[in-house]
Amino acid sequence: MKAMATQLVPDVAIPCSLAEGLRGFVGECHSDCLVGTLLLKGDRIGGLIRGDSTSATKLLFPAPVESHAHLDKCHTIDRMQFTGGDLSAALEAQRADKDNWTEEDLRTRATRGLTEASSAGCKAIRSHVDWGQESSAPLAWSVFLEMAQDTKLHLQLAALTGIDQLADPAFASKVSKQIPSGHALGSFVLNHTRTREGILNAFKTAADRGLALDFHVDETTDPSSNGLEIIADIALETGHKGPILCGHAVSLASQPDEVRKRIIDKLARAGIFIVSLPTTNLYLQGRAGSVPAARGITPINELRDMGVQVVIGTDNVRDAFCPVGRHDPVRALELAVLASHLDPPLDLWLPAITTTAGDAIGLSSPSLQDAPLSEFRIADASDLSILVSGAAHRPATTLLKELTR
Ligand SMILES: [Zn+2]
Repeated sequence: MKAMATQLVPDVAIPCSLAEGLRGFVGECHSDCLVGTLLLKGDRIGGLIRGDSTSATKLLFPAPVESHAHLDKCHTIDRMQFTGGDLSAALEAQRADKDNWTEEDLRTRATRGLTEASSAGCKAIRSHVDWGQESSAPLAWSVFLEMAQDTKLHLQLAALTGIDQLADPAFASKVSKQIPSGHALGSFVLNHTRTREGILNAFKTAADRGLALDFHVDETTDPSSNGLEIIADIALETGHKGPILCGHAVSLASQPDEVRKRIIDKLARAGIFIVSLPTTNLYLQGRAGSVPAARGITPINELRDMGVQVVIGTDNVRDAFCPVGRHDPVRALELAVLASHLDPPLDLWLPAITTTAGDAIGLSSPSLQDAPLSEFRIADASDLSILVSGAAHRPATTLLKELTR
């Protein structure tokens, strides 16, 4: 067999955490990146060697993964008579808007969301879909499943049910049978009356059908809301296989130190992923007094320090839950840096929107060594601070065309 020719791309930066411990990746350390000459073997990454220069003109990074979105709700704010409020006000306004959710409306808005995610370099996106009161699937579910066949992005859906509904085994079973393999069973957990029964059923149903789990949990600063610990307890009791992703976990930050540490320890032992969603939480939480007041935000640093895999997502885009934004995980990371005090070096945090985000929704992330270029993006940047601040980027496969010019 003919050996694949090696091509050289000078002055490339690779996030240090990505290359750490890998043989064949050597360069000059500059800020949060390793700088050198990238070796390509065909359309795969062969390694990094020291180059003549220590400054990079291009940054290679894994394709972002949007792990938490709501394509059924996005881009609706301009037709609502909504002038702000807390989570319950947003729920009410969004419920009223559902009368407009025809097939054409859903397709148009979701296409806009997917186009944004593609432009943001995403390789995959998980969207929740409000399930509603009936056990039969809502219109958005079938429309988006069809769109998942047509879009270049990997579009994964999570059925967003109420945890009280899942406490009914017949409801849980009927819903789960309408979730194809590769998609997720999701639920909203916030001071419901049958939380433990519902979560137990969610785990049982997901195990029976081999589905991933995804919870919206404790979206409040009120520490009496602690669905997160019930989820962790049941995950430990059942030894559930498959990714469990918990979004928000806002009340965790309001817990007394020893309670918070106890919960985080359980999350780490259960291998539960936590997705922080700063946009929606900053907009909806902490509205009881005058602004600025304490806002609800996931305690990302502490979670990570205690061994929990943390992810950062976009959540709502231009709807009643968040009236601004676009589907762009890099932008979500930029906001999380400010909202959650994520300190440099930023290569420690990049996995939260790339490789770890992929793991959290059950996608495999190839190791850098020998990985296909199609899994990566190239930014006009010399380090991650420039990327996170909004540098332009493109698919890394364009490197091949640039080399032949
Ligand atoms: Zn959400």
